[in-house]
Amino acid sequence: MTRARADIPTIDGSHGEGGGQILRTALALSIIARRPVRITNIRASRAKPGLMRQHLAAVKAAAEVSTARVEGAAIGSRELVFAPGEVRPGEFAFTIGTAGSTMLVLQTVLPPLMMASAPSRVIIEGGTHNGMAPPFDFIERAFLPMIQRMGPTVAARLDRFGFYPAGGGRVVIDITPAPLARVDVTSRGETRSVSGIAIHANLPRHIVDREIAKVQERLGWPTESLRGVEVRGASSPGNAVILVVESEHVTEVFSSIGAVGVSAEEVADRAIAEVRDYLRVGAPVGPHLADQLLLPMALAGGGTFRTGRLTPHAMTNIAVIRHFLDVPISEETDGESVLVRIGS
Ligand code: ATP
Repeated sequence: MTRARADIPTIDGSHGEGGGQILRTALALSIIARRPVRITNIRASRAKPGLMRQHLAAVKAAAEVSTARVEGAAIGSRELVFAPGEVRPGEFAFTIGTAGSTMLVLQTVLPPLMMASAPSRVIIEGGTHNGMAPPFDFIERAFLPMIQRMGPTVAARLDRFGFYPAGGGRVVIDITPAPLARVDVTSRGETRSVSGIAIHANLPRHIVDREIAKVQERLGWPTESLRGVEVRGASSPGNAVILVVESEHVTEVFSSIGAVGVSAEEVADRAIAEVRDYLRVGAPVGPHLADQLLLPMALAGGGTFRTGRLTPHAMTNIAVIRHFLDVPISEETDGESVLVRIGS
């Protein structure tokens, strides 16, 4: 990462993973540190670089919560200057306008709002169960419980499911800030339960029956722990397999989103593969939770977690965090898993 101008630090969006995560983490940190930032080469490693609608929604949401001055906030823009003002907690409604992930917009504004001086309510419309993004269930059951352990109270409600391509989903998030305390997630403890749902909206029931059969066959989970859920009122067809492993010290959620041209068995297999990896390694934190825990732990000034391996996403996130915060982040591997230590 380079500094192009003395007054506005520059973050190179092509660094590492070169995707939307750099933008979201940089916006959140810019607001919290109250430091302007220039982001160049936005999403340079993606097939369609620049700001897509979901990223633009994140920029606008970030600007609204922090009364920021923004240059370059347009679809396709590859460069952005973001100069935050004061954080103004309160009521916000953000509409993505496509099936872009509501959860990734939340990822951008949650850190500043959970550290603000007063509570906020955030309503976001768009996709709630998207490929390549955390589904609502992951945020509700895996990520937010970790945030609650750090201090803030964050309640998430799913009002309407939103799937690609129509979107139209709606989530309501109530955030009560609190000082962030360190959290240590170094062991999983005993497994308390395993469960799964297969969701279908405007699609035939046999799809979820086949997915559930696949999960039973490959994971051997009990019949009563798995169920098909029909969703009504979604604007487009949708299908998702959500598998939950609840352990003494952590709950992990693995998911796969149905798509045209992908068989029900294949959709199930993708989530099953993630569960198998997780159970085989034995570390409490899976790859997605790992990259999403880095920022709150860094903001708390400390914390540790054990995960299977650090993904390029996580490494990229660490680089952006280092750009803004003077907090040591180290990794120690024992060959099987990695212990990530934030702070001293
Ligand atoms: P781009 O199109 O640039 O890739 P993006 O904005 O969609 O951008 P990424 O940079 O790929 O996003 O970041 C995606 C985020 O979603 C990461 O935090 C990743 O951990 C998370 N994520 C992806 N899939 C899942 C999943 N199945 N469960 C939980 N989180 C997920």
